[in-house]
Amino acid sequence: MILAFKCECGNHVDFHAFGDRDEHGRQWLELEDDERIAIIPGKDGFVLKCNFCKETYRISVSTV
Ligand SMILES: [Zn+2]
Repeated sequence: MILAFKCECGNHVDFHAFGDRDEHGRQWLELEDDERIAIIPGKDGFVLKCNFCKETYRISVSTV
């Protein structure tokens, strides 16, 4: 497990690296269970949405 998400409601999901890499050698992180959260892209970042309580968490991505 590389990254763990835990919602305020107690829902949690882990991201795993299974060794798959992109053309730059960076590992892909894959959701343990994509029924628990949704990852929604936005124009300057993305939003994690808990599928249990519907709470949303926004993460901004610097484009610089
Ligand atoms: Zn939740």
